[in-house]
Amino acid sequence: MKYIIYILLSFNLTTFTISAEETRQVDKHEHGVGELNIAVEGSTIEFEFMIPGADIVGFEYVAKSDDDIAKINQALKTFDDYTNIFTLPSNSLCELNGQKVALKEEDEHDDHDEHDDQDEHAEENHNEFYAKYSFECGNINAIKEVNFPYFATFTNSGELEVQFISNMGSTSFEVEGDEPSINTDGKI
Ligand SMILES: [Zn+2]
Repeated sequence: MKYIIYILLSFNLTTFTISAEETRQVDKHEHGVGELNIAVEGSTIEFEFMIPGADIVGFEYVAKSDDDIAKINQALKTFDDYTNIFTLPSNSLCELNGQKVALKEEDEHDDHDEHDDQDEHAEENHNEFYAKYSFECGNINAIKEVNFPYFATFTNSGELEVQFISNMGSTSFEVEGDEPSINTDGKI
């Protein structure tokens, strides 16, 4: 069994327990479509991204060359500063209090149980970037929009499919680089 995760954890930040999303199969994604779940509860807001490697570094095979490994590590560092990915209004007084960034690669062993064909599998390899950020906000109702520098940061990026949940209900958004923000006014 081969299952590799590169993880960068920021020190002094709490980590998260494993959620259902984290254990899902990474080959269920669609290239060009990143997923984002935003959950608001009380004064807390959480962002959870699951984005195909193709949208971030342009490939999903297992990085072996120095160049490819450098690309992966640079991307993980970029995710490590959430302001490269999204920004919140400063008057919402949100402070980051937890984050996790990882590259998730699919489990090759499971595939080989069904199709013992390495060449075929190599062409179909998938991985995705996972990033989760949690904030405690002094004035969460001031989050009337969320902006996504993500699209400018990663030039291979496609759209983001956003699921937004608060005690007001749930909403979905499709965000693209030509209008990289969502309007959450009245939704928190
Ligand atoms: Zn893929």
